[in-house]
Amino acid sequence: MYDPNNHTVSLPVELFEASGTVGHPVNISVGDGVIVILREKLTAIEAIKVFAYLADLGDSIFNSVLKRCGKCLDCEDGCSYDGESRGFIDIPPSMRKLYGISENAKIRATLDEENQRVLLTKDGPTPDLRDVPEIIYNLVRCYGVCLTDLDTLIQSQIPVYDGEDCSDDEEEDNEDE
Ligand SMILES: [Zn+2]
Repeated sequence: MYDPNNHTVSLPVELFEASGTVGHPVNISVGDGVIVILREKLTAIEAIKVFAYLADLGDSIFNSVLKRCGKCLDCEDGCSYDGESRGFIDIPPSMRKLYGISENAKIRATLDEENQRVLLTKDGPTPDLRDVPEIIYNLVRCYGVCLTDLDTLIQSQIPVYDGEDCSDDEEEDNEDE
């Protein structure tokens, strides 16, 4: 598939035949972890069918994450990761400037019980709940998913999606937990 001589990837023509893109100009969209080859021109019904397909795929990918998190029922007084701050702390821009902390660097607060103080430290590059886009964060909250669980899962960086369809078994899995 990959030709290192001219840095190209060839795909079997059957894929293009099955998708009805043979002989049509296509657009290629590139995202983080995904490449989409889409026919450049679509009629209304074709566009609707493409949307339905992508929504289905997105649903399956999303559920592969959700099925590994519990519902937020066990967090007494609500989930500490809920709300606008997502359970994390920030410092004013002036303070960031003073300590040479870049605008995007994450800050973590830890409790130093012995000395009765809160320590603010610059976090590493490990992804966490703060990296979840706003629209997805709000969606996850609507589902009642435990945000503490989700944060732990994101930070673990273990693979959660393996190409299997997870769109139907979310309910069953969550009931077991
Ligand atoms: Zn929770």
